Amino acid sequence: MTRPLRARIDLQALAHNFSVARNAAPNSRIMAVIKANAYGHGAVPVSRALANADAYAVASVEEAMQLREAGIRQDIVLLEGVFEPAELELAVTHQLQLVVHTPEQVRWLETFRSDASVRLWLKLNTGMNRLGFSPRDALPVWQRLQRLSYVKSAGLRWMSHLACADEYHNPATSRQLNSFVETVQFADSLQGARAERSLANSAALLTRPDTHFDWVRPGIMLYGVSPMVPGYEAGFNLRPVMTLESRLIAVHELQKGDAIGYGQTWTCPEAMPVGVVAIGYGDGYPRHAPSGTPVLVNGNTAPLVGRVSMDMLCVDLRGQPEAKCGDPVVLWGEGLPVEGIAERAGTIGYELLCGVSARVPRFYQTVPGRPA
Ligand SMILES: *Cc1c(COP(=O)(O)O)cnc(C)c1O
Repeated sequence: MTRPLRARIDLQALAHNFSVARNAAPNSRIMAVIKANAYGHGAVPVSRALANADAYAVASVEEAMQLREAGIRQDIVLLEGVFEPAELELAVTHQLQLVVHTPEQVRWLETFRSDASVRLWLKLNTGMNRLGFSPRDALPVWQRLQRLSYVKSAGLRWMSHLACADEYHNPATSRQLNSFVETVQFADSLQGARAERSLANSAALLTRPDTHFDWVRPGIMLYGVSPMVPGYEAGFNLRPVMTLESRLIAVHELQKGDAIGYGQTWTCPEAMPVGVVAIGYGDGYPRHAPSGTPVLVNGNTAPLVGRVSMDMLCVDLRGQPEAKCGDPVVLWGEGLPVEGIAERAGTIGYELLCGVSARVPRFYQTVPGRPA
């Protein structure tokens, strides 16, 4: 038997979540964010399953090239633009759209020559304070970029990013929105034309229609994970795309006082069955998940006990004394939302999904119950 661990990727759930995004933002185009290997789900199969997306967004030329080499022809946006001028030629050859967020990138573009037309997104810093030009600096940059021969006037668009949209009541979102609108409307009035704009991530897409504009940029929601902070129960009707599955590879009857795993951090309070599951932090299961974190064995909860090892973890089988070697285990996904596991481990679902390591085989499912 091969190691039983795999990440099952439900492409129907992905398509369903995409339709949730469409319905929530019916008047916007959708830039599906598939950076970081589609949040760990596999960028090429995910992009193929999201063929109705109006564009894809990735974080680097390498990520974009992976899609182009797989024959993906749709528009692709580089969310951080290029990292050095040498990348411009490749980006333009492969018709990538570039975010422009630093004066350096503006200078690289001004010395770059091309006969092709290039679409640029000017990144405005409205309060995230990570990338982009301040509202005051952005207008002269906009005008400089418009003068570039290979940037047709329709080729320049506005983008900004929200810092706190996952907290529904945080007033920062409205402040960022106001700053964004003020700046882009002023630029529109100067040039006598309306440029396209994009502000919303998943959280804003689902909860703030006033941020939708021309393009929404959903990432995490496409993978079936709530973008909101824990405790915000909104019933978005998302379905988990990744189910991380393994099996019991050993079951032991331990005695009262027996301690489990590295550091012997958990001790059996009574004679009890303990199962060993083939998954560990080397696969991306968080080592910080404490004893008590739920795991599903045969569809029933069996709490994690002891420290997570590199390739294995242990579970308390007192709730199902019949469980045996080979029985199926779910670490997160269908029936066990990754959000809850993340909360136990002191992180967010995004990190757990992105962290599923390369040694975990991805298994693509198009019809429920049947492999792709
Ligand atoms: C990652 C990213 C997104 C997607 O965010 P989610 O919270 O996953 O929806 C959108 N825009 C930018 C600029 C990003 O970097």
